[in-house]
Amino acid sequence: MTARPEVLVRCQDAARTYGEGPAAVVAVHGATCRVCVGDRIAITGPSGSGKSTLLHLMADLERPTTGDVAWPALAGEPLPAQLGVVFQGPSLIPALDVTENAALPLILAGVTEERARRRALDALALVAADGLAGRLPEELSGGQSQRVAIARALALRPRLLLADEPTGQLDRATGRHIIDVLLATTDEIGAALVVTTHDPTVAGRFGERWAMHDGRLYPGPEPDRQSAATALPGEPS
Ligand code: ADP
Repeated sequence: MTARPEVLVRCQDAARTYGEGPAAVVAVHGATCRVCVGDRIAITGPSGSGKSTLLHLMADLERPTTGDVAWPALAGEPLPAQLGVVFQGPSLIPALDVTENAALPLILAGVTEERARRRALDALALVAADGLAGRLPEELSGGQSQRVAIARALALRPRLLLADEPTGQLDRATGRHIIDVLLATTDEIGAALVVTTHDPTVAGRFGERWAMHDGRLYPGPEPDRQSAATALPGEPS
């Protein structure tokens, strides 16, 4: 008998609409999916298909307009301490150096400054960015900034890491390296990993791929493989 997988996040018919009336945009139509311990998932789809919005729902950065999002295995501690998020585009605070940036979520979570600094340095070492510790964001390349943003998310030692287009601003080689870093480091700390990407090469690195098209979530890379009504991404087959 196989053990039941631990569910980190579950979306049940979760929808998100922006605006009201004729101007309303349905960014995500009722999405049903789940992410379990050990999962490695890429959410693919063209720009505007709803990938970021779905990721934000899973990160509790947005609340669903209808439906439900729950974090069954993360009930013990506040969610921000257990969910690592790597945002799309530049997200480091310009006035803080690399270590201070990586330590900030820990300090906000109540960790003492000294301990936060130590954990930030450990996380920077995981992504081979400890040599950048005293630099300011303006002194970093795009790939270096992204590694620091990943370290900032890893410093929390999250159970689930959600990365929104982590290679979007990078050249191909740097992007490949960032995916290597994400896969290796989440493996090392035992975190599940979900990335959004419009790049099929990036998606190809992930064992499980979900596709989004016009706000609808499909279980495979081809939107026409299965109807949205029957799609249950993350459900065991
Ligand atoms: P993707 O990540 O695939 O590019 P998004 O989730 O960013 O897609 O966007 C899905 C749709 O929702 C798009 O039409 C986008 O313009 C719209 N949208 C996203 N965020 C907002 C917002 N804060 N206000 C209004 N519309 C939004």
